[in-house]
Amino acid sequence: MRIALYPGTFDPITNGHADIIDRALTLFDKVIVAVAVNPSKQTTFSVEERIELLKAVIGNNENVEITSFCGLTAHYAEKRGVAAIIRGLRAVSDFEYEFQMALMNRRLVPKVETIFLMPRGKYAYLSSTLIKDIARFGGEVDLFVHKKVAEKLRDKLGTKST
Ligand code: ADP
Repeated sequence: MRIALYPGTFDPITNGHADIIDRALTLFDKVIVAVAVNPSKQTTFSVEERIELLKAVIGNNENVEITSFCGLTAHYAEKRGVAAIIRGLRAVSDFEYEFQMALMNRRLVPKVETIFLMPRGKYAYLSSTLIKDIARFGGEVDLFVHKKVAEKLRDKLGTKST
């Protein structure tokens, strides 16, 4: 059984993240989608809320596990016995940070590869940060996130869609 780990902040999950999960599922038997808990990083949604939204978007899929972890991604990947870490690449701007992290993770756990997947073009400019900015100023986010996520964004950021 080939298992991949897709770690991230997912604050909140966007259609871009969902697209990467779908692609990973064509390559692996199982994908562990794991919210990285980083107490020094300020997030809009709590870990529990982010997990709840991931579950709402992905639904019941026996090939996807949704969870969270603390500490280094490389150590968690090793502990879970995965073959690869999945990361999404949107643009050149993602590359430098992702490349650095992939090489560092390889030094920490040589047997775990990092695989980069590109989303559909229409999702290539999507980020959780951008979506939250749009929601905060009352913009329409329904094209970019699942409707449960859009609802939660409106509740949390206290705005209504225009
Ligand atoms: P992190 O804080 O780990 O970067 P994110 O939730 O922002 O957490 O992203 C998790 C992973 O998903 C990263 O590899 C990121 O580049 C990728 N990603 C985020 N948004 C998109 C998108 N729209 N299309 C493809 N990949 C994406």
